[in-house]
Amino acid sequence: MQKKILVVEDEAAIRSMVEFALQSEGFDVTGVENGREANQAIAEGVPDLMLIDWMLPGVSGLELVRGFRRNASTRTVPIIMLTARTEETDKIDGLDSGADDYITKPFSTRELLSRINALLRRAEAFEDAGDPLQAGEIVLDPASHELTIRGESVTPGPTEYRLLLFLMQHPNRVYSRGQLLDYVWGEDVYIEERTVDVHVLRLRKLLKQHDVADMLQTVRGAGYKFTVRAND
Ligand code: CA
Repeated sequence: MQKKILVVEDEAAIRSMVEFALQSEGFDVTGVENGREANQAIAEGVPDLMLIDWMLPGVSGLELVRGFRRNASTRTVPIIMLTARTEETDKIDGLDSGADDYITKPFSTRELLSRINALLRRAEAFEDAGDPLQAGEIVLDPASHELTIRGESVTPGPTEYRLLLFLMQHPNRVYSRGQLLDYVWGEDVYIEERTVDVHVLRLRKLLKQHDVADMLQTVRGAGYKFTVRAND
């Protein structure tokens, strides 16, 4: 089925370039200039992926992403941020807002397409339903994407969701950042290992809110481990 991509970018030249490149690849593309128009487009149909510019007039790209992550209909839609800034802290902020990836301007359409395809494949792979998983107080249902901790409904971002799903499927084993990148993000994704730390931190923050952060441990010099005790 044709995948729908929403492009939110106020610079007409970049928007046209991206629209053209994506249409040429067979995507159903909608290009809009700002957050207001993005919300209108989403009301007409939730896209399979969104490209959102960092610097937008009115509501910024970051605020937009945060809003989408709070909204049930857009919570799990993969998001790539387009940014002209290169500072590391900006990238981390971008990821912390709930974006799944970022790409720095100027970028090649080839690079953009490879990022988009990687994210879409990832999203599809995780759509395959499995039986609900339980680890102690954590219950995750891959069929409905529902996560409950201590009986409370929790809404992680899409990357944290996939990370937690992977860890719950493979408890009590240490995974290096590189291994997590391969398994959770996909082998053909070119992102820094530091990105893994950002998402682990975010997942841990979420678990901490429910007093189960101790399950996700950092193993010094080795990576991360999700610990499930036998009696859990
Ligand atoms: Ca802009």
